[in-house]
Amino acid sequence: MTVRWKKSTCPYCGVGCGLMIETENDKIIHVLGMKGHPVNNGDLCALPANYPQLFTAEGRLTQPMIRRDDKLLPVDWDEAVMHIANGLNRIIKKHGPNAVAFYGGAANLTEEYYLMNKLMKAAIGTNNVECTARLCMASSSMGFLSTFGADAPPTCYDDIEEADLFFIAGNNMAVSLPVLFRRVCAARVKNNTRIIVVDPRRSETASMADIHLQIKPGTDVALNNALAYILLKEGYVDETNVELYTTGLSNLKEVVAAYPPARVAGITGCAENQIIEAARIIGQAKAMLTFWFQGYNQSTQAVFKNNTLHNLSLLTNNYCRPGAGPLSITGEANTLGCRWVGALSHLLPGMRMVSNPRHRQDVAKYWDMPAGKIQATPGRSILDIIHGLHIGEVRALWVLASNPAASLPHTQWVEEGLSKAELLIVQDIFHPTETSMLADVILAGAQWCEKTGTFISSERRVELVEKIIDPPGMAKSDCEIICLVARAMGFQKEFPYTSSDDIFEELKGITRGRICDMSGVSYERLRDKVGLQ
Ligand code: SF4
Repeated sequence: MTVRWKKSTCPYCGVGCGLMIETENDKIIHVLGMKGHPVNNGDLCALPANYPQLFTAEGRLTQPMIRRDDKLLPVDWDEAVMHIANGLNRIIKKHGPNAVAFYGGAANLTEEYYLMNKLMKAAIGTNNVECTARLCMASSSMGFLSTFGADAPPTCYDDIEEADLFFIAGNNMAVSLPVLFRRVCAARVKNNTRIIVVDPRRSETASMADIHLQIKPGTDVALNNALAYILLKEGYVDETNVELYTTGLSNLKEVVAAYPPARVAGITGCAENQIIEAARIIGQAKAMLTFWFQGYNQSTQAVFKNNTLHNLSLLTNNYCRPGAGPLSITGEANTLGCRWVGALSHLLPGMRMVSNPRHRQDVAKYWDMPAGKIQATPGRSILDIIHGLHIGEVRALWVLASNPAASLPHTQWVEEGLSKAELLIVQDIFHPTETSMLADVILAGAQWCEKTGTFISSERRVELVEKIIDPPGMAKSDCEIICLVARAMGFQKEFPYTSSDDIFEELKGITRGRICDMSGVSYERLRDKVGLQ
């Protein structure tokens, strides 16, 4: 009997807790929190206790399958890969590159997204690349970009212990992010940190607050504007400082002039004096840390909610100082990593935009591909991909580790769209799922602990997850599968990698000189540390 302990990172949310994995005879038997890890110091939520069961759960895919006579039948890898490569090449030749699309979950490894972007955006030449970040973090991402000019929080979890005010909006953090919330509670006890919660519900988090602004749903923008109105009116804003580091203060003043607290009390349902008190607490805080989540991000006003919240930080000099600034927490484990390597239809790797000619040129040059191959217009969003399937403009869709038939809105419409695909490729670890049941080809991928790569957590921490056990049966690492298909399509030179390390060494170079510069990171350094920021 061989018992071993290995370091890893939790793959189930963007907090990025450090784990210790115990294996016995190449089976995962225990998962514990890693003591001394800068994120969780041994603490965990309830999820990891169940992880060992995932490796032996029923329905685990062990080999590829192809649909024949309306039945999904097991095949070997050569047959599955050639079937996909021939199918994609045939569709591209007949209908053009925009007839194919990719959609993935945001818990895949950074290396997998990087390969998919290279294959789709440069080798094939379509920007139809999307991931589940579109559903949760795209609005937060746009909020960061339009306010700060970069898609990432400028804060980290260690700011929790430095803050003297937490502003928590649109989330029941006590339940959904218990590891971080325990840090919030400990900091509150130690530092007497105050808490303002904005939530229409009387949640567990709200019950801890000094002030609970129990707004009517969808009135966050009015509330934030009223808070800005009071901060400006009562002299809490150092306007010279704001003018020095930002633009648009006079425009903001004009906008928020329409949001006096008496009016906003009527809009939000909160008492006028409660709104004023909250603004004064913000104005007097030495370091305000803001948290917001899907209550903001999954909304028709999502970007404006983000922008108006960031305005409060900018007006009160609550950024770029210990304990101060915006800290959004991503839902899935690698929502930040996937964005940094371009896994949305408007992005290119290294926080670049497909619409920027210089960015397209830089990326094409790095990949040694013709600059004209990368299209200048954003590809389809995921819902537009489904629409494209309905009207025959999208013919092939490759789904990696996601179940859009169950998770996208309007499931019946989504299922009908997926059913119309000429070639639906589903790469997953389980079958059947609602999506894999509709597939023409199923590829048996690997899960966390069965492959090596990186996650990037909500606080920009790059963390290594290493292969600890083999995937079952004929299942393969997802990077290997993508490379096999790419080479079979004719892109041998562009996909020469023999390991995840090779891929990471290439992808980190494309971030050099960008705000998300990872050029100093290596697997070797990550093995020594517990993540690098
Ligand atoms: S809080 Fe998130 S990262 Fe931490 S153990 Fe729970 S699911 Fe994993």
